Amino acid sequence: MTCPACGTTSDVVLVQTIDPRENPADKAKLLAGELNMLACTCGKRSQLAVQLLYQDAGFYVQVCPGGDDALEAGAAAFAAAGVTGTLRVVPTQNALVAFWKRQKEAV
Ligand SMILES: [Zn+2]
Repeated sequence: MTCPACGTTSDVVLVQTIDPRENPADKAKLLAGELNMLACTCGKRSQLAVQLLYQDAGFYVQVCPGGDDALEAGAAAFAAAGVTGTLRVVPTQNALVAFWKRQKEAV
């Protein structure tokens, strides 16, 4: 991954699936806004646009960066997989976090 500010290349471990029961650390990073983040030595922090599925006991949220086509593809994938529960396709990780927090407040 290349920093857009200074061009330095850094290694970033991309996370594309979160099951909070198996990976509570990834969930914590997601909520803290630290997941899939390129943090460069120059100080620039860049959110990477990554497909990410959050799944937790009938609660599925898929992050599909890339516009309407990507969102439709994500929704179609849910339909094809036949999963049931709370399903949501969102464009960004921030939208996933916002949705997750609204769900928690509603419970
Ligand atoms: Zn940099």
